[in-house]
Amino acid sequence: MPSLYQHNHSEHLLHVLFEEQQKSLHISETAISSIANSLNLPRSQVESVVEFYSFFHRQPRGRFDILFSNCTCCGDLSLMKRLCDRLNVEADKTRADGLVSIGQTSCIGMCDHDASMLINGVTITSLSTKIIDRMAELIESETSLSLWPGSWFQVGNNIRKEGLLLSEFFEPGSALKAMAERSHDDIIEEITASGLKGRGGAGFATGMKWRFCRDAAADTRYVICNADEGEPGTFKDRILLNSHADTLFEGMTICARSIGATRGYLYLRGEYRYMLENLESTLQQRRESGLLGNNILDQGFDFDIAIVVGAGAYICGEESALIESIEEKAGIPRIRPPFPVTQGLWGQPTVVNNVETLVAAAGIVLHGHHWFETAGTWQSKGSKLISVSGDCGRPGIYEYVFGITVQEILDDAGAENVQAVQIGGPAGRLIAADHFSHRIAFEDLATGGSFMIFDESRDLLEIIHNFSSFFAHESCGFCTPCRVGTTLLKNGMDKVCSGHATAHDLDELSRTAALVSRRSHCGLGMTAPNAIRDGLKYFPDCFEKRLLHKEMEPEFNLDASLEEARQLTRRDDAEAHL
Ligand code: SF4
Repeated sequence: MPSLYQHNHSEHLLHVLFEEQQKSLHISETAISSIANSLNLPRSQVESVVEFYSFFHRQPRGRFDILFSNCTCCGDLSLMKRLCDRLNVEADKTRADGLVSIGQTSCIGMCDHDASMLINGVTITSLSTKIIDRMAELIESETSLSLWPGSWFQVGNNIRKEGLLLSEFFEPGSALKAMAERSHDDIIEEITASGLKGRGGAGFATGMKWRFCRDAAADTRYVICNADEGEPGTFKDRILLNSHADTLFEGMTICARSIGATRGYLYLRGEYRYMLENLESTLQQRRESGLLGNNILDQGFDFDIAIVVGAGAYICGEESALIESIEEKAGIPRIRPPFPVTQGLWGQPTVVNNVETLVAAAGIVLHGHHWFETAGTWQSKGSKLISVSGDCGRPGIYEYVFGITVQEILDDAGAENVQAVQIGGPAGRLIAADHFSHRIAFEDLATGGSFMIFDESRDLLEIIHNFSSFFAHESCGFCTPCRVGTTLLKNGMDKVCSGHATAHDLDELSRTAALVSRRSHCGLGMTAPNAIRDGLKYFPDCFEKRLLHKEMEPEFNLDASLEEARQLTRRDDAEAHL
C-alpha cells in the first residue's frame, strides 16, 4: 500500500546535514549553500541549524569521531583521558592526520550501563580500561566499526520491574480495533476518565490536551511523539521504543483519530539513532498490515508517521522547540501562548505527547479507563516508569504504580549508604535522607522518570557542578536571564569547587539562582538552578567546607604575586611568604 506521506524524510534538513557530516566529517560553507539550494531553504536557515545542534561541526572531525558522555551516571572522563593519551590526541581537537577526534557530550541515555560513548553516532556502553585500550588499537589500525566486537554495541533493556505498561504485549492492531467501535468523543472521554497525565514531567491532563486540539478550528492537525528524552538519568523511553514500538504507534494512531489528524511525527533523540532502522521497519510492517497509511482497518481513516532524528540539543525536549526542529529550524522555544494545541506544527493544532503517555493511551483504549484509573493515588493515576541509576546494585527500569516511596525504590535497587537522590534529573529535585519517605506522585515528588542515586562516597558538590555545567552548555541562548545566568551559575560553581569561594559567593549564587528561575523564558532556565538551590538548602556543609574564607576573598593574591620575586632572589623560606 502506498503511504499517504508524501514528504520524503531523507530530505529533512537534519537528516541531510547528518549525512553530510558523516560523509565529509564537517559541514563546509559550500555544503551549506548547496544544501540550502537543493532543499529550497534560505541559506541563513541552514547555517543557523548547523550552528545550533552540537552534532554538526564547521571544522573537520576525525574519521573516528568519539563523544564521551559527561553525565554523572553514564560518564567517566578518566576513560576519555586514557583514550586521548593512547591515541596521542588532545580532547576537543582532531588529530593532525584526521584519523580521530575525541570530545564530550551530555548524557546519552545509558545511565544503566555505566560509562558510555558515541562513536560516529553509534552507542558503545559499559566501557572499561580494557575496552579503551583495545579500542585505541582498532582505531590506529583503521579497523572499520563493522569489524569491532559486536558485544560493545549491544544495549540491553535492564527491565527490573514490570507493571501495567511493560507487561503489556498485545497483538498489533488490538487497540485500533477497540478504537474503531467508538467515536472520537468517546475515545477522548475514555482517556479523560482514566486520569492519564503527561509522563514527560509537566503532568498536563492528556484527555484535556486532546480535547483542546480537537476543538481548535483547523483543517489540518498533527500528532507528535516526543522521544527526545534528554534529561540526564532518564532512559525509560529507550526501553519503550525498543520493545513497545507497536504499542506506541498504536497510541499515536488513536490520538490522531481522536483529534482528526492524518499525519504524525516521532521526534527521536539523536543519541538513539541506533534504533531508527527497527522503528522504520515497524512502521513499514504496520503499513503493510493496514494499521497505518490509507484507510486504516477499512475504517476510512488515513494516518501515517514519519521519524525525525534530532542532533544533540537538549532543549528540543521542550515541545515548542521540538516543533521548531521538525520545521527544520534551530530548536528555540516559542513564546507561549499560543500553545501547540491551537498553533503548533506549521501553525496548525498539534498534540505533543511523550512516549510513555502514548503507550499508556493505547492500553487505556484497549482495556478501558478502569484498568488504569484504579492504580495509583487520587491525583496520580496509573503507573510510572522510573529510570534508576547511580550508586546501587540493580540499576535499570522499574515500573511502579504512583505512590511508591523513594525508600522503597532504593531498597528494590539495592542502594546502601545513600546520601542523596536526584529525582527528575538535574532539572528536578535533589533530596536528602529525611525526604526518602516522600512518594513519587504529581502531588508529592513529580518526575519525568529520572532517579539518580548518590551514596556517601560521592562529592555532591561535584555532582551539582556537573549539573550547572550541563545547563550552561544546553541553554539555547535566546533569553538573557538563562544565557547569562546559567554561565554565572557555572562560574560560581567553578569557584566553589576550586576552593576560591567565600560566603559572599554563596550569597551571589543564591541570588543568581532565584533570578534565573524567575525570569527565564522556558522550563530549561526556570529549572536550571534547582540543584544549586537544593544543594544550598539541604547540603550546605558541602559548600561551606570548600570555602577559602568565610567572610571575604581578597581581590589580589599578594603572596602568589611575589613568586617571581622569590625565584629571582632565590628565597623561598617561610619568611619570604606572607
Ligand atoms: Fe533558551 Fe534558556 Fe531562554 Fe529557554 S530559558 S529560551 S533554553 S535561553
